[in-house]
Amino acid sequence: MLACLDLEGVLIPEIWIAFAEKTGIEKLRLTTRDIPDYDELMQGRLKILDENNLKLDDIQSVIGTLTPLDGAKEFLDWLKSEFQVIILSDTFYQFAGPLMAQLDYPTLFCHELVVEGDGRIADYRLRQPDGKTKAVAALKNLNFKVIASGDSYNDTGMLKEAHAGIFFKPPESITHEFPQFPVTHTFEELKNAFIETRARLTNGC
Ligand SMILES: [Mg+2]
Repeated sequence: MLACLDLEGVLIPEIWIAFAEKTGIEKLRLTTRDIPDYDELMQGRLKILDENNLKLDDIQSVIGTLTPLDGAKEFLDWLKSEFQVIILSDTFYQFAGPLMAQLDYPTLFCHELVVEGDGRIADYRLRQPDGKTKAVAALKNLNFKVIASGDSYNDTGMLKEAHAGIFFKPPESITHEFPQFPVTHTFEELKNAFIETRARLTNGC
């Protein structure tokens, strides 16, 4: 049985929001909740980076000052002792690096930035559209049972695709829209939800 876990908002802070706070660039706080078109949002972010002459190094050093959310490392250590864990994220490998080190390098499937020789971020490359859902579908195809957990809209596809989905600290609006998924608010609750879900799936219910 596999555990597939979202990254931002579950184990680490939202990287763009944290970066906006650290740099004071308000416009970088925008997320898919403000601009639903992901490409438009990302092109806007890359433009702001150019305008502020921010290179990958600058961003990585700011990200390097961030830490995982309280209790996240302990939760992930526990989860790895009980399940095979794969983190499915819509962030980029170049951003996640410093935080992955603090989490002891769990397996991470995410996307990639296109970086020029001088460190300028020229573009981004999705590994594939809707990568989280497709990863879960592929793992099911390998005969794994999958329990998935995440906090936001970009997780609902994988939560639906998995044998069981669990929300962790979601915005309230989303819980009304997807009432089929249990909602957890603390790592202790999430841990219990994984244990109960595994027992239910093992018993074939
Ligand atoms: Mg998230």
